[in-house]
Amino acid sequence: MLYIILFIVNFRHFYEKSKIILGWKPMADTIKNHKRVKKFKCYDCGQKYTALCYLIKHVEKEHKDKIPKGMSTKQYIFNKAHKKDYQLCVICKKNKTAFNEQTMRYNRYCSEACRKKAGEIANANLKKKTGKDRSERMSDPDTQKGMLANRKTSGTYTFSDGKTTIGYASSYELEFLKFYDLDFRGDPLDIMECPYSFEYEMDNAKHTYIPDYYIPSANLIVEIKWEKQENEVHDTERKEPYREDAVRKSGKFNYIKIRGTEYTEFVQVMSIIKERNLDTTGNYDILFITSYAPNKQ
Ligand SMILES: [Zn+2]
Ligand SMILES: [Zn+2]
Repeated sequence: MLYIILFIVNFRHFYEKSKIILGWKPMADTIKNHKRVKKFKCYDCGQKYTALCYLIKHVEKEHKDKIPKGMSTKQYIFNKAHKKDYQLCVICKKNKTAFNEQTMRYNRYCSEACRKKAGEIANANLKKKTGKDRSERMSDPDTQKGMLANRKTSGTYTFSDGKTTIGYASSYELEFLKFYDLDFRGDPLDIMECPYSFEYEMDNAKHTYIPDYYIPSANLIVEIKWEKQENEVHDTERKEPYREDAVRKSGKFNYIKIRGTEYTEFVQVMSIIKERNLDTTGNYDILFITSYAPNKQ
């Protein structure tokens, strides 16, 4: 699936049409490099592989006896690579967190309570920094204008585990949550309303951008946008490049913009991140997937 992607030759010309751009390197290059390097090493015998799936097969065939009972092959490989046996929850610092098979990394939070607590801490910080928390921001006239175009229907989604909940502010956000939960089978404890905010300047005024969701184990910010209609220009649409630039400049987060209900790129990105999470060299760029070129400033 990773290989059916893009062809950006002159992306100043094509960027409006092409959606996948990684840290402003054409996706095709990133994938070529990604594939050529044998960076998936077996920590039991030193054998190296070009793709994680080959390493997993190898470990299952050759070292099955070494994998502790009840531990998955992925968790075993991750532990060996990162020299750890478990990870503690960043909030309570007491409980071990679950290993996330989809992102190849331990979850950041142990429980719904700790995940919620993390959201509350982020909200308090936001209020301190900008004078308004997330929900106060939602009732902003400025935000509302954007929401209207987004066919405002906010509410709380309950995951299929029957207990974990998360807010949504538009029908597209709700669709994404359903997709993440029911089709992608993402871990409910590993997604939250984005706890980070970004300052940016437009028309000589300061603004704050709070993206929609964040997936901690993938360090991935997810922004959900309605499908762009032909010739449609919203005020929020004009803000998008500035907002994205603010995130890009922070240099800290992977980022994906999802339009409407098109999730193919999300699945591709999660697959790349999964392989990266095993890479102990840290030798890779931030993933930035959007339909906008960076602002020339
Ligand atoms: Zn081996
Ligand atoms: Zn905890």
